[in-house]
Amino acid sequence: MKYLFRDRFGGVSQKPFDSLNLALHVGDNALHVEENREIFAKDIGAKNLVFMDQVHGDHIEVIRDVNIKKVLKTDAMISNLKDIALCVMVADCIPVLFFDEVKNVIGVAHAGRSGVKKKITVKTIQKMISEFSSKTQDIKVILGPSIQKCCYEVKKDVVIGFENYIHVKNEKIYLDIVSKCIDDLKNFGVKSENIEAVPVCTRCDKKYFSYRRDGSTGRFCGAIKL
Ligand SMILES: [Zn+2]
Repeated sequence: MKYLFRDRFGGVSQKPFDSLNLALHVGDNALHVEENREIFAKDIGAKNLVFMDQVHGDHIEVIRDVNIKKVLKTDAMISNLKDIALCVMVADCIPVLFFDEVKNVIGVAHAGRSGVKKKITVKTIQKMISEFSSKTQDIKVILGPSIQKCCYEVKKDVVIGFENYIHVKNEKIYLDIVSKCIDDLKNFGVKSENIEAVPVCTRCDKKYFSYRRDGSTGRFCGAIKL
């Protein structure tokens, strides 16, 4: 298994997408994006990259075709195929990767506030169990760089469901969706030692694209392959 959270440098996109933007939907030159995706495929060592047309929903697709490039209206994917890398595009949302080393199954999920609220990570594991007979205790989960509690300021009306995961500073409300995501996984039965969260805030660390920091910008990827 190999995985990667790719920083935004080393690509060919021009401002404001510079430079390794992997998203076609943000207004960047499509030829630049394709070239960046080739660079990314080499970085992770995959013959084919599978992307999702992410919609903040909770549909989980099972990938059974090594040549598929894109899945529509999907926020998570699982597979047991070799040579492909499952990719999740983000710029502040949490890129979540899954690995069952016993059954050799991989997965990715796009977890923003809405995905965390819908428990997309738990649903992805349930799908690994139903499709590939994975066992919860064998599954490792890695949460990549995302906007953290230091920077995720929100309006009062979106805290419903996150009451235990907010803090107030200078009368501003901040959410900690990473902790909520981790607690949901633990409550489902994922072992603490099998959950890893990269302690990097995308809005603070300019190595990564951040929608909150930059507005019109590119997307980086978390990817995993067998
Ligand atoms: Zn921050």
